[in-house]
Amino acid sequence: MTSEALLGTSDLPHQLPRFADISDGDYGPALEVAMADQLRAIAAITGNPDAATFDNTLVPLERSGIGLTRVLRVFSNKASADSSPAVDAVRAEFAPRLAAHSDAILLDADLWARLQVVEGQRSSLAPEASYLVERYIIEFRLAGAALGDDEKQRLRALNEEISSKETAFELALQADSNDLAVVIDDVADLDGLTHGEISAAAAAAEARGLTGKYLLTLVLPTAHPHLAALTGRDVRRRLSEAQRARGSRGGAHDTRAIALDILRLRAERARLLGFDNHAAVVTADNTAGTPKAVRSLLERLAAPAARNARREQEALSAEAGFAVEAADWAFYAEKVRSAQYDVDLAALRPWFEAERVLRDGVFFAAERLYGLTFVERPDLPGYHPDVRLFEVSQDGTPIGLYLLDLYTRDSKRGGAWMSSFVSQSELLGVDSAVVVNNLNVPKPAAGQATLLTWDETRTLFHEFGHALHGLLARATYPKFSGTAVFRDFVEYPSQVNEMWILWPDVLASYALHHETGEPIPADVVARIVAAETFNEGFGTSEYLAAALLDLAWHELAPDEVPTDPDAVAAFEQQALAAVGLDNAAVPPRYATSYFAHSFSSGYASAYYSYIWSELLDADTVAWFKENGGLTRENGDLYRRHVIGIGGTRDPLESYEEWRGRPAPIEPLLARRGLA
Ligand SMILES: [Zn+2]
Repeated sequence: MTSEALLGTSDLPHQLPRFADISDGDYGPALEVAMADQLRAIAAITGNPDAATFDNTLVPLERSGIGLTRVLRVFSNKASADSSPAVDAVRAEFAPRLAAHSDAILLDADLWARLQVVEGQRSSLAPEASYLVERYIIEFRLAGAALGDDEKQRLRALNEEISSKETAFELALQADSNDLAVVIDDVADLDGLTHGEISAAAAAAEARGLTGKYLLTLVLPTAHPHLAALTGRDVRRRLSEAQRARGSRGGAHDTRAIALDILRLRAERARLLGFDNHAAVVTADNTAGTPKAVRSLLERLAAPAARNARREQEALSAEAGFAVEAADWAFYAEKVRSAQYDVDLAALRPWFEAERVLRDGVFFAAERLYGLTFVERPDLPGYHPDVRLFEVSQDGTPIGLYLLDLYTRDSKRGGAWMSSFVSQSELLGVDSAVVVNNLNVPKPAAGQATLLTWDETRTLFHEFGHALHGLLARATYPKFSGTAVFRDFVEYPSQVNEMWILWPDVLASYALHHETGEPIPADVVARIVAAETFNEGFGTSEYLAAALLDLAWHELAPDEVPTDPDAVAAFEQQALAAVGLDNAAVPPRYATSYFAHSFSSGYASAYYSYIWSELLDADTVAWFKENGGLTRENGDLYRRHVIGIGGTRDPLESYEEWRGRPAPIEPLLARRGLA
């Protein structure tokens, strides 16, 4: 059959998927077969007449999803990194079916009964097996497994309604963003933008039939990147107001009523599951544990961040000669940055040639820390001609493959991410891992070097931190393999890997001018380091404001959620004022009406995760610095307690065992200039 290449194991090195044998038409049939296989395997577990044990319930349950996981990994990557209308159609068709499939398993009463029996046997199990039972019990309970039949029916209806409202939010927001794109008649108004940006704006206008004009399309966060460059105050205001207006203008594309419906439905679902609110459900399945723990960290940071932002605001206003508003902030921040620190990040690109950054920076640090070496394998096929494959060895023993898909293209979604094709698992007899990093770096003309921006360099180190996590984790059970850790923990290893960008040995190895071979000047590096906390009052405040809004909305009980869309602004104002973050010049990174993380992607009441992980990151960076930095000994310790354990145990417990205490807040305060 045609979907064999997706369903079967691969005979390529490290079980690299057989991309060359897979076509777009194979995904649908393969998903059908894999879902049916899993349900058959579950039926065999629940139909087993023997009393439930770990070996006759958990082990086959872990094995039951292998085929579906294999298909989904290849498919999700394809849908994100190299999609097509056919693949998009399969995704739309299968999204609700996959949700129903997972509900069918999580709400299976017989399976739940067996899990509970095995829960009683935990004390006789090995630690990882015992933790596996614990995790399954929590996951099933949060999905509603313990409910009665009528309640389960209500839960299914709520899940369906929430999911369709989330889609409605996404579509309305997209439509309103398109409508609100700013049309510019006179190119003089674009003063400050680069040639490339101006021609992109002309092309965007042309595509809408607005020949001879310019179109500034909107981006998700409140602050549009063009605001840093546009010299005209009026055009900055127009752009900023358009960004802020999204989803809140009434009419068909207003997202506020949808958001309130979603909040009410999520709150009702939380009550059904026995929790006070949705935030309690989400944090229960994360390392944070409770909304209170999250709130206490966010509030601890809010006051000093707001104070720093006000100080920055005064400096910017002094530079501008008037009181700067949200629309002016980035423009004057850039002026002050270059005056105070003389750092022009754009001028650094010749020192960040992609191949050097990769081999002499990213790979170099991984070799020093973990003994990893990388050999390119042009003989192995990727899923797109741009994809490069490297065989990864540790101390000479091959442990997997690292795929790098650096360049942007029309078929790739925006952003940067890591995903896994194969994860190590002792139970499944898989020794290797196969991981991919996707970025969206513009491809240079043929024969030209790829020069990365400062941000792209940081992103590559960051995503490679996820890749290391995926490559180095060792687990018995597939549920715990690779980067399968809590959402509010998963960004921590990737954030840590960013520390090597400016580490002197690493920098000396990779940051050489691509034409002259000259190292990056020491004074430039010193100024970059000095400028690191610049504008962090703003950056931290706008992030915290969004995280607090996301939390505050999801702390409401069903009957506390307002019904009037016009009440949204008042709620936002009150929630921010309560923590001192109600500064109009520093709006939240996302406001309710365009908060896609909160209302249409999986980050509802989990937007705090970034700073939560950064608490551990900052403490870990401090530890590396105190202990000699880039050494194999340090890498091995960090691997043994953090990135080498996958999800096999409580990650905070392991962390605290290593450090002898929980992560203190001071390193985070210092890094963000909040001490
Ligand atoms: Zn990340």
